[in-house]
Amino acid sequence: MTHSIITYDEQRVPPSPDAAAPAAGKSFVPDVSPFAARADKDPVEFIERELALHQAAHDAAEALLTELGYTRVPLDPFDVAQRMGLAVEYRTLNGDDVRPGDEEWVAGILEKLEGHPSATLYIEARDDMGALRFAAAHEIAHWRQYTQGKTASEIRQAEFYCLCEPNDQNTPDEYSADLFAHMLLLPQFLMLRELANGYSSATIAEHLGVSQRIVDARIRNIALTQL
Ligand SMILES: [Zn+2]
Repeated sequence: MTHSIITYDEQRVPPSPDAAAPAAGKSFVPDVSPFAARADKDPVEFIERELALHQAAHDAAEALLTELGYTRVPLDPFDVAQRMGLAVEYRTLNGDDVRPGDEEWVAGILEKLEGHPSATLYIEARDDMGALRFAAAHEIAHWRQYTQGKTASEIRQAEFYCLCEPNDQNTPDEYSADLFAHMLLLPQFLMLRELANGYSSATIAEHLGVSQRIVDARIRNIALTQL
């Protein structure tokens, strides 16, 4: 997570609901786990760590959906965020010269102000639904990480500002948030159904409203962990 200050304008333009095309360019998912470097040294430790991280993300995603009684697929992460009590707002978070996929591209920001019971999820007001849906699911993960084990009063008192850029993946919290987003948006049962139907990753990306690179990364993860 990078914590920094950003000036918003007051624009509030929701992305078009039928703009579910997969995102072009770089996704928010690394090709390989940041822990993959360890595989050369100790493949058993690597696999065990990956399995544990995937299992934790899987369990956390399931627990959230059970808590909310949410059964709709493909899942709408903006709806889930609101059901969790987060306010969702659409604002311009990037300058015109910053394109989706750029290193400094920001798709979502989570801001928790002192004295408020919950946080606001700011989503870039631009049509790039694959990236925006993934960013929303990723920020939901950070909200879960942040609030876990805290009382409502502790949460109300705290301040929190989370701005994730595409190159921020190499920390355990960021990697776990990406895995959680995978489990929410591309759950195993849906992925297996799509793959059993013989759909390509490009088609699956269209069906599930994420970028093709995210689908490809998810297929590798399923092959590795069967989760
Ligand atoms: Zn993050």
